[in-house]
Amino acid sequence: MKKNFCLLSLLFSVLLLVGCGRSVTDESALKTVRQSNTITWGVEGDKKLFSLIDVRDDQVKGFDIDMAKAVTREVLGPKGKVKFILATSQSRIPLLKNGNVDAVIATMTITAEREKIIDFSHSYFNAGKTLLVPNDSKIKNVHDLNGKTVIGILGDNSVDVVKRFAPKAKVIAMQDYGQAVSALKSHQGDALTSDNGVLYGLAAENPSLKVCGGTFTKEPYGIAVNKHQRGFEAAVNRAVIKIQRSGEYNRLIKKWFGQVPGFNYRRLYYK
Ligand code: GLU
Repeated sequence: MKKNFCLLSLLFSVLLLVGCGRSVTDESALKTVRQSNTITWGVEGDKKLFSLIDVRDDQVKGFDIDMAKAVTREVLGPKGKVKFILATSQSRIPLLKNGNVDAVIATMTITAEREKIIDFSHSYFNAGKTLLVPNDSKIKNVHDLNGKTVIGILGDNSVDVVKRFAPKAKVIAMQDYGQAVSALKSHQGDALTSDNGVLYGLAAENPSLKVCGGTFTKEPYGIAVNKHQRGFEAAVNRAVIKIQRSGEYNRLIKKWFGQVPGFNYRRLYYK
């Protein structure tokens, strides 16, 4: 009886483990996406220009989304399907680690810290941190943030970056960009810091706010995949390179960033 109970609990634990998303440690990602003819992507939903839910048709749209579709086409062929699962800065790595998504494309900076737990594709976008402030703000650059309150986003790297450049700044971290912009507009903070493309998108939607201070970090974005998935990672890398070399990449850059006032989109072109 006792033995049976032990066996049953062991079986239950194994079922629980395999039931929590797909296994991500056995090099199977490429096989899985080919079998289902689908890549499931973790994407964000609150970043104009990169990935924003369009309330008119409930579709998520932006540069990251078009890149995900293009990579899927390269990896699986023209009939390959995409599925998008909404993530936040905080949930994007857990979603990947739990096997709920095959890859994450979400303005995610390639950092040594993150590379300890996940792998990244070649960089597909050269971003850098900058500042968003009210139009009448006296803040000119990141060094003016000492003694000020700076708004960042939970789970992204802006909080650490501010501490490096302006150690005397007080940083408050918000759940998402909606909350962060409301906090800035209601003067709970003096500036919001994040990546240039993201902040230009927010400035375009919020005429009372402006981008300032230039870009003070280098933040190459990568597509995140699980560790031990060399076949899938190589396929994603080949896809990114092909998209860049074919001219499709530059077309997407122009499509999403070509009309953004003050943003030098040509600097992002693949040459
Ligand atoms: N690129 C930064 C990061 O990966 C910030 C972008 C974001 O808010 O997700 O942490």
